[in-house]
Order: sequence, then structure tokens, then C-alpha cells
Amino acid sequence: MSGRILIVDDVAGSRIVLRARLAAACYDTVMAADGAECLAIAQGGVDARPDLILLGLGLPDMTGAALLRRLRADPRSRAIPVIGFDAGPDSAARIAALAAGADDVFAKSAPEAVLLARVRNLLRARVELAAVPGLAEPPAVFEPSGVIALVSSCPDRGASLHKELCQHLRDRIVVMNQAQAMDAAMAGAMDVFVIDAGSGKGAMAALGLLSDLKSRQATRHAAVCVAGIPIQDYGAAMAYDLGADDVVSPGADAMELAVRLCSLLRRKHSRDRQRVRVADGLRLAVIDPLTGLYNRRHAVPELRAIAARAQESGTGFTVMVVDLDRFKAVNDQHGHAVGDAVLVEVGRRLRSNLRDGDLLARIGGEEFLIALPGTLDEEGRLVAERLCAAIEEVPILTGSGLGVSVTVSIGVAGSLPDGGGPAGIDAVVEAADQALLEAKAAGRNQVTLRQSAA
Ligand code: GH3
Ligand code: MG
Ligand code: MG
Repeated sequence: MSGRILIVDDVAGSRIVLRARLAAACYDTVMAADGAECLAIAQGGVDARPDLILLGLGLPDMTGAALLRRLRADPRSRAIPVIGFDAGPDSAARIAALAAGADDVFAKSAPEAVLLARVRNLLRARVELAAVPGLAEPPAVFEPSGVIALVSSCPDRGASLHKELCQHLRDRIVVMNQAQAMDAAMAGAMDVFVIDAGSGKGAMAALGLLSDLKSRQATRHAAVCVAGIPIQDYGAAMAYDLGADDVVSPGADAMELAVRLCSLLRRKHSRDRQRVRVADGLRLAVIDPLTGLYNRRHAVPELRAIAARAQESGTGFTVMVVDLDRFKAVNDQHGHAVGDAVLVEVGRRLRSNLRDGDLLARIGGEEFLIALPGTLDEEGRLVAERLCAAIEEVPILTGSGLGVSVTVSIGVAGSLPDGGGPAGIDAVVEAADQALLEAKAAGRNQVTLRQSAA
């Protein structure tokens, strides 16, 4: 995996050693000797911004935590992963850096294989999120509390870890064993899994569970933290490569674990919000906001798919174009708002008189397109007549209690009996359009059918 990595350290020798290690792993590197230089690069031109920062925490001009806060406060650098390097075993500096937004803090003595695995792991997560535009969202004003699964094969250890974490976190923490962690119903509700790797044998089981959680639908979006694998251990590198969001060494104090879990929860919630935004955006792109029906953008490829399936199965399909009669007069007499309410109700009546597999879309102001897979000719006409009747029979009641009587005209055209394939789609829609004009010319509130070519 390639990427540009910014190395920030006031000691030239440390920068050079890191640069050599990263160059050997094919990363581009940029160097900064202090916090000001780091900010200038990380918040500079888009093309020069790094994909990840390795940050020596003992800088001459500002503390690591202060620099991290400034990186996290600025939209240009907010989403850049940062691995801090602490000078020694001082857990207060490490916790301060984690709390200020470091993705991880390593000892300078951490083995190269583990560091490179963590770099790969964070870059991979960044690439996955980059597919989602606008990830660098500001921190949520209100962070919802989360549900943390504490997975331990030893009930006593689970209980004591639970007790310690509860002193630092307001989130719900549920202790469970590995089998329970895989229970889909239970797993789906979890934001973070903390897997207690326990003894040496527990490490393999923990990695197995990590891999399972990351590959299952119900849990793949949950964050997973493996606790109890020494960071010097090759198992830590494996955990990162399997997708662990964090690895915590044995003996890390509860405060540090709590701070790491807070970060994991915050990032997990942020990713959840991004996913909802993307899903909403995709949905809105194909949905007509007035009626909630599909729009033309969805209808066109969907028609082609129906035609392709019809050709595969050797069955035909019917296309209808439905247009409200003299709808301009409804707007003129009752106003646009009543016109809108009529369109919504017409859409609803059409939908409720069709099968689930039938396509219904609003393709113009007062024009709807329908496709009925597996239905041809007379059968199609009968459906269209039922739709006409469903609109005409009962006046549409609008918000003010006013009943508005409307009718529709429908042009119906059948595909070739074997579907004819996607190439024939334009001809069928054109035929339905022509049939609609005939229905209008013949007096409206009626159906005209163009038979499928034999
Ligand atoms: P015809 O029977 O020949 O189809 O007559 P018509 O009046 O329905 O047809 P025309 O094309 O002359 O007018 C269509 C009207 O539909 C005009 C336009 O204001 C109205 N319309 C289109 N979109 C909307 C909408 O979203 N809301 C409302 N209220 N009216 C709309
Ligand atoms: Mg029209
Ligand atoms: Mg009309």
C-alpha cells in the first residue's frame, strides 16, 4: 500500500531512521522538525497533505497533545491518522496524546513489523472512508453513549475489567464469552468489541474472533479492540492486518483502555453517520420527493433490467404511460398545493393496485411509467383498466376536506413475446407514448393498447 507519511521529530537521527524504514516499505515521506512545520504541511495544499503522520511527542515548540488538538480542530487535517511516539514509559503523556486525538501511541522501541502493520491498518481504514466524501466531519456536539462488548473466556477477569472500565466510561458495558459474541442478535447491537486475549493461547482465539467479527454482516462495522497482546509481539501485527481498530498491551491501565475506547466509539459513531448520509444520498437520487415513488433516473436502468430478465426467461412484459387528464385545470381551480396532494394520492393508488415486482415511477410532472414483468397484451390492458377505475371511482380527499375528481389516460404497449431484450425497450416505451396520445384524442379517461409485435 502506498501513501505519503509525514515524520515529525525534532531529532534528525530519529527522522532519518524512520524515513529509511518507511522508504523500504515503499512509502513517500515528508519531514518536519517541530509542530509549526507539521501544521504547515498537514494543513497546506491538498496535494502535499500527508495520508498519515508519525509524531514524536517531545517537540520543542508545543506539546504533542496541543499539536494534536490543533490538527483535529482543522477540517484540512482532522481526518489524517496520527501515530504518536512517546519518549518513555510515561503513561500520562500517552493518555494525553490519545485523548487529544492520536489514533495510537507507540514506544520508540516498537518493532518495525508491528509499526508497519499499524501504518497499513490505518491507511487502509482511511482509504475505505475516503470513498465516503466529507469524512472530515466536525466532532458531534452530542456524542451518543455506546454499547461495548467485553469478551473474555475468564469470567473473573471479565468482571474485574468491567468494574474498572465502569469507573471511567458512561457507556453500557456487557461482559460475554466468545460464543455469545458471535450470537448475531446480540452482536448486531454492539458498537465496540474488546477481546481479552488473556494468556498466550488466548491470543490465537482472540485473532480468530477478530477475523470472524470483521467478516460478518452484523458486526463488520463495529470497532474491535484486542486487549492483552504485547505490542512487541508478532500477534499485534497480525491483529492490525486482520483489521483490529486497536491493540492494547497487557498491563495497560484501565484509564488508558477507557480513553482508547472513547476514541473508538467516537470514530465508530462518525462512520455510522457517514454511512447513513451516503445511503440517504443514494436513495434521494432515485426517489421523487413529492410522491416517494422512483424517479426517471431509477426507471430507465430498471426498465432495461426488466427487459434483460424477460429475454432470459422468454416471457414478455408490458409498459404503460399514465397521464392525468386536464390536470392543469385542477391546479388552476384549486391551487398548486391541492394539485400536489392529488399527485401524491394518484401515486399511492397506482402503487396499491400493482404487484411488488412491478415498476412504478413518476417520470414527469403528472406522468407515471409502469412496467409489468411477465404480463402481455390483454392482461396488461385489464391491469390498466383497473388502474383507471381506481383513480376515477373515488374523489381524492385533500387536506382541506375538499374532494377532487380526477381521471387518467393510459397508453399500454407490450414487448415482443420473448421480451425482445434491452434493445427493444425504446420501441416499447415509444409505442406506449403513442397509445397514450390515442387515448387522449379519443376522449381521455381510457386505455389504449398497442399489441406486441408477433
Ligand atoms: P392533458 O389531459 O392533455 O394531459 O391535460 P393536462 O392539463 O393534464 O396537461 P398539460 O401538459 O397541459 O398540463 C400539465 C400540468 O401539470 C401543468 C403543470 O402545472 C402541472 N404539474 C406538473 N407538475 C406538477 C407538480 O409537481 N405539482 C402540481 N401541482 N402540478 C404539476
Ligand atoms: Mg403530461
Ligand atoms: Mg395531463
